[in-house]
Amino acid sequence: MSIPVILSIDVGTTSTRAIIFDRNANEIANHQIEYSTSSNCAQDENTPTDAIKLKPDFSRGSGFESFLSAEGVEIKQSSLVEIEQNMNYKAAPTLIFPKAGWVEINPIKILENVVQCVSRVVELLEKKNHLISNSKFKNQKPFRILGIGVTNMRETTLVWSRNTGCPLYSGIVWSDTRTSHIVDSFINSCRPEKLLDLKQKTGLVPSTYFSSSKLKWLIDNAPQVKQIYNSSKNNNTTDISSVDKIMFGTIDTWLIYNFTKDHNYLTDVTNASRTMFMNLETNMFDNSLIELWNIDHRNIVFPKITSCSENFGFFTLPNFEKFGSKHFKLSTDATQLIEKHLSNVQICGSIGDQSSSLVGLTCFELNNSKCTYGTGSFILYNTGKQKIISSNGLLTTVGYWFPQISGQPTYALEGSVAVAGSVVQWLRDNLRLIEKSSDIGKLASQAADTAGVVFVPCFSGLFSPYWDPKARGSIFGLTQYTNSSHICKAAIIGICQQIRSVINSMQADFKSAENAVITNSLLRVDGGMSKSDEVLQMQADCLGDKIVIERSTTSESTALGAAIAAGLSFQDSSLRLWKDLDDVRSATNQATKTLSKNSANSKREFHCQMSEDQRQREWELWEKG
Ligand code: ADP
Repeated sequence: MSIPVILSIDVGTTSTRAIIFDRNANEIANHQIEYSTSSNCAQDENTPTDAIKLKPDFSRGSGFESFLSAEGVEIKQSSLVEIEQNMNYKAAPTLIFPKAGWVEINPIKILENVVQCVSRVVELLEKKNHLISNSKFKNQKPFRILGIGVTNMRETTLVWSRNTGCPLYSGIVWSDTRTSHIVDSFINSCRPEKLLDLKQKTGLVPSTYFSSSKLKWLIDNAPQVKQIYNSSKNNNTTDISSVDKIMFGTIDTWLIYNFTKDHNYLTDVTNASRTMFMNLETNMFDNSLIELWNIDHRNIVFPKITSCSENFGFFTLPNFEKFGSKHFKLSTDATQLIEKHLSNVQICGSIGDQSSSLVGLTCFELNNSKCTYGTGSFILYNTGKQKIISSNGLLTTVGYWFPQISGQPTYALEGSVAVAGSVVQWLRDNLRLIEKSSDIGKLASQAADTAGVVFVPCFSGLFSPYWDPKARGSIFGLTQYTNSSHICKAAIIGICQQIRSVINSMQADFKSAENAVITNSLLRVDGGMSKSDEVLQMQADCLGDKIVIERSTTSESTALGAAIAAGLSFQDSSLRLWKDLDDVRSATNQATKTLSKNSANSKREFHCQMSEDQRQREWELWEKG
């Protein structure tokens, strides 16, 4: 007999992590790698530059966890992961900032990071099982991995060759704004009725944020992509299989393609709905939406869209040799251990990160809402089976789709704020006002108010509800009196006010939507910035006394959401880790109660403590900014 557990893989914007969860959402093992970055990296894999030092955030974590720092030096060294040190090789950065506004990710490094995280958690699991078998823990059974769930930053766009499986360019990250000219000319060339139709079909607005303009840029500018695109267009050969094609995908597709035995080429509906190529009515890629961007769909291969809970394929390790990246090699012991625990295990959950945290925070009811404060900030409001198309700058997105539980997807209204934790990093790394991210709350709360300073934190345009790709960050109202506390406070308030604008838009949409009423006054929150009491108090003050903020006690709700997607995937309910959504809620609530007793972030609820007058004054100041 054994205890079934799920392995969750979470590829975020700043780090990758692997976490093994049990049924009660307890973390059995956790390993995280923060990305190495470079601000001026050459594109060529053969001439990688040194990674810039990051300050890893070690504020979370205990027990069965370990971290790899940005330089690849493991803090608790694992004996099983071996990185071949080639004399000429200097670790290539994972995240690349080649120019202002450009953000790229190295697709091979993504796979390496995942392998290292998986290897480490499997090693930790093996150690735990070993202790159990030596009866150190009386009455406990060993753990067995039942399935794998994947979650990832959405919209980030990758292209690879159908013939070789090798990437044709770096991944273009969601926050990259290089395509603003493409989006501008797209908007200018579309009649208003066309834009309205596009919004009805996709739930989205034209923006640099989504994958569509990124794919168009790759076809027009990346030499290898351009070449395959044009040659497949001109090719008249009868042997179609020999003609190379561009495979398009988001991170989920890249992971599933490389980590399944049959190289399955799939994407789940929550990721697909963020490409701007998927029709929300059919849950399929729509050729007319692809052609709107002047992309010939016949020259590109698109993955098949699935639900979030499926058999995506049996797990295997990627073949790194085909990439010619000799620098990465897993030791034989590590490979054997992964095979022992994962060789007959399916990837059976896949869900985009914001949908995943909606699920991890158990926002399963109509009107449940959540806000994640990660690199950016994302509010999702569960609208049930109803797709509400916003008239106020919000997005319609697929919340989740678990066909074993419900035939149709559940939808959400979403407000995306491009900059949240990234401004904290900027204050830390570029202005050096704080040493650690966690210092921001204390410094900001030293000032009673912002002394008239307004900080509009945006580096790559404003997203919801403003959708201004040209907007750049600005700080107004500086005087000789202004100090670092005022600036930090104004930065946090800038994020909180954008979230207030999103909630105002949601209320306006609900007023105009038929049969819809906004009834919820509880906003569940998670993500890196939500660890700060001061940040959450400022948010509660901005939102007023009608909304209560409830902090999640599980800091890993995004990873948990993917585990839930995987655990619900089996047709036979007796094989599922959870029978249904009620079972998920009650099982994971038990953990929440225990955790909240021991949690460092013991305060769970935040209520507005600001007078209505002051709230109004701050809002007016922000609106002027
Ligand atoms: P992502 O999933 O986008 O990679 P995370 O949820 O891991 O992001 O959050 C990371 C962000 O949270 C970082 O930008 C970091 O600056 C910020 N952060 C982490 N801890 C704190 C804290 N205690 N106070 C404020 N911000 C924090």
